Amino acid sequence: TSSHFALPGWKPGSRSGLARRGLMLVLSSPSGAGKTTLSRRLLAEDDRITMSVSVTTRPPRPGEVDGKDYFFLTPDRFTEMRDTGALLEHATVFGNFYGTPREAVEEALSAGRDVLFDIDWQGTQQLDQSAQQDLVKVFLLPPTAGDLEKRLRTRAQDSDEVVHQRMSKASDEISHYTEYDYILINQDVDDSLAKLKAILQAERLKRRRLTGLADFVKDLREAL
Ligand code: 5GP
Repeated sequence: TSSHFALPGWKPGSRSGLARRGLMLVLSSPSGAGKTTLSRRLLAEDDRITMSVSVTTRPPRPGEVDGKDYFFLTPDRFTEMRDTGALLEHATVFGNFYGTPREAVEEALSAGRDVLFDIDWQGTQQLDQSAQQDLVKVFLLPPTAGDLEKRLRTRAQDSDEVVHQRMSKASDEISHYTEYDYILINQDVDDSLAKLKAILQAERLKRRRLTGLADFVKDLREAL
């Protein structure tokens, strides 16, 4: 719907007239803070944002679909993508490689679509170097440590060892909260979703994201 946009005349990818560049919404959190649920809800309710599907060398969890949750790659294939510049950013997390394919993101942005990234602080720092203007960085925190542990355990898809590993990593991950623009404390998913949508809506209205604005205003003023 066009209600996301403050000004009339916006067309996705239009070359002339008033247009908006797509933005890059990064959602980071420690494992178990509820990020996947929140991302899915946002994607279901907002048709102008697309998920960036990462590549990883981690094995799929039960229920995960190749090409939807991740592109599951061999280490060789991952390394090839990384070394040919096909990744916008990449990082090692829990001993596995993860990365963001460049092409899909660039296509979406140039078509005026927004892109949602579920990436860690290392990837966020890399995007900050290369695409700072387009980046909106949101960090999701669990309300309590117990809450995070409960989510990790009820997910029950990872072994005890992996859960333990993720708990001890959570503290490191959280220490990077200062590198983000917005903080969401995920007490209630409906509440967090409403706040995330408000962030997105406000960011979409940022003057610097609009192209053709000077001409639009010039025409408007000349008609007065
Ligand atoms: P999981 O294995 O639980 O799906 O993800 C583990 C961590 O890797 C999460 O913090 C997730 O945000 C991060 N991650 C997933 N994909 C990427 C990626 O493409 N790049 C980076 N830097 N981190 C990623």
